Amino acid sequence: MSKPKLETMLIHAGEPRIAGSVTMPIFQSSTFENKDKAGYHDIRYGRLSNTPSHDALHQKLAAAEGAEAALATSSGMAAISTTLLSLLRAGDHLIAQDSLYGGTHDLLTHDLPALGIEVTRVSGDDAGSWEKARRPRTKAFYCEAISNPLVRVADLEGIVAFARKHSLVSVIDNTFATPMGFRPIDRGFDLAVHSATKYLNGHSDLIAGAAMGSRALIEKVKHKLDHLGGSLDAHACFLLQRGLKTLAVRFRQQSQTASELARFLERHPAVSRVYHPSLESHPDYARARKLLAFPGAMLSFELRDAARVPRLFERMTLPIKAPSLGGCETLITQPAQTSHAGLSPSERQSIGITDGVLRLSVGLEAAEDLIADFTQALE
Ligand SMILES: *Cc1c(COP(=O)(O)O)cnc(C)c1O
Repeated sequence: MSKPKLETMLIHAGEPRIAGSVTMPIFQSSTFENKDKAGYHDIRYGRLSNTPSHDALHQKLAAAEGAEAALATSSGMAAISTTLLSLLRAGDHLIAQDSLYGGTHDLLTHDLPALGIEVTRVSGDDAGSWEKARRPRTKAFYCEAISNPLVRVADLEGIVAFARKHSLVSVIDNTFATPMGFRPIDRGFDLAVHSATKYLNGHSDLIAGAAMGSRALIEKVKHKLDHLGGSLDAHACFLLQRGLKTLAVRFRQQSQTASELARFLERHPAVSRVYHPSLESHPDYARARKLLAFPGAMLSFELRDAARVPRLFERMTLPIKAPSLGGCETLITQPAQTSHAGLSPSERQSIGITDGVLRLSVGLEAAEDLIADFTQALE
């Protein structure tokens, strides 16, 4: 049999069938008996991410990204911070894409510099600026597969080539694209990180993160995690293990519904712009077609009249006004009031995030019902 496809791996990878159990049981035990082996490295303990719950989940996560190894963490931010702290020390320098997830932005702006790690922000499209940013102690390049909230796709191939040429560790946050949309490891990235809170789990019912890559790099991240303490608990391991099995069907359906909704919104007279990688009007349409297997289920649109936003929120019945993304329910946010509230109105204007921009995480409702709901709410 040829190598099974992602859909199959999501079901069958990391399923040890313990005592014949078809699904992976919950190992609700903080510590494990240590009969004959006595060394520190043989200790099985929840914080060391090496219980049966972790081993099974790591196999499934690694299979999901087609990576040698994976590590689950207690949140997406735990995956990101621990990964970066495992790669960088005082005096080192990081090149990072601008317009990153808010928590990552703050980590790079406040916490890393406080530890003596310098960060230069660059455009994900401008290879010239990467070269200018590079210093003797530049160690890594950090980017995101799809940006928030305008779902831009950076020059990811260029970033890999640049990182390789200068021996930098390339790290990509693949949360928005998921392994269904983009395959970072196949494309040459060294490490993928995720907020598993979002699509990997897919049910808006846990907080978790993950890092995937070579055995050697993941081992390094794991040692840092052992000390920083952001391991995932057994029950959350179980939920994530379960959620991952349906990633492929969820993401395919959600991408499809998002594409239909994007086309509907693009034709609507009350909407001035729609951002979704499936639309030819999207600035990165050609790149997205080349790099993404699915356009994803995050989309943003701008109301012609921002004053109508409160009315839309009032009239909508299906989308839930809540932050986060990647669950079964369609969620809506106003980035100017949430993720980008920290910027001044003119800063927001300059990056296209006006008060009329709304972000949708498209869920698993029927496309017809979502379209009908927006039709009446936009009237
Ligand atoms: C949510 C999110 C994170 C942070 O994940 P948590 O699980 O909330 O810690 C990081 N990156 C992206 C792109 C996200 O959407």
